Amino acid sequence: MQDDVTLYAFNCGWFQCKPGYYVEGDEGPHMRAPVPSYLIEHPRGRAVFDTGMGVRFRREQANALPADKFGLEWFEGMDIATRLKAIDVDPASIDWIINSHLHIDHCGGNAHLPNATVLVQAIEFETARTSEQPMLYTPDDYDTGQPIRTVSGEHDLFGDGSVRIVPTFGHTPGHQSVIVKLSGGEVLLAGDCCYTERNLDVMVLPNATANLEQGMETYRRLDALRKSGTHILFGHDGLQWKSVTEGVPFVL
Ligand SMILES: [Zn+2]
Repeated sequence: MQDDVTLYAFNCGWFQCKPGYYVEGDEGPHMRAPVPSYLIEHPRGRAVFDTGMGVRFRREQANALPADKFGLEWFEGMDIATRLKAIDVDPASIDWIINSHLHIDHCGGNAHLPNATVLVQAIEFETARTSEQPMLYTPDDYDTGQPIRTVSGEHDLFGDGSVRIVPTFGHTPGHQSVIVKLSGGEVLLAGDCCYTERNLDVMVLPNATANLEQGMETYRRLDALRKSGTHILFGHDGLQWKSVTEGVPFVL
């Protein structure tokens, strides 16, 4: 029998871009989207899926990113450690970090979870290590001293089917997502394999896709899961985030 799992969502920063960044041709002013992190509480351990941005992206309100600029930022109190403490979870008690991928806005808070083992797809780790694009990958974020355990393909974290890591390649060569089984149904934490619900509705990949064929295959799988009732929490979806309440058990 499956044990009870609880999921919490947090926003650990902001990603700001024009609509065309998501779906080419879409027009409009810059949009603000969250940089989500999730806590997954299982009776046999705690996992965090994605950890936000590193300290170098912290800003003061007085120095906030102008509304018409592309970029990333977070403010005091938005980091994953502070988010966890706010719900009385000690950052040192996190057993696992599951990084969807190793881009700067998804593993920048890894250092704040000192006792966690990092779970990442082997291909992603290799891609990061050999990358020559410091704007996307930097060891300061993902190589922070904790053990790194590489995974190839699917991985059932607690062996009971309640927290399943699934490969969702395309955005990066080794992107992964997590399917969490809650009492009310299944939730897929997408990460950046699909930025927004609109991307999936129109089946259009963003330009920021490392492999278009893999990306479209991932979209087809997500669409099938969605049609079969899986709730998808998208990677940087400002519209969807309005319906998410942070820091409380996520209920379907
Ligand atoms: Zn991202």
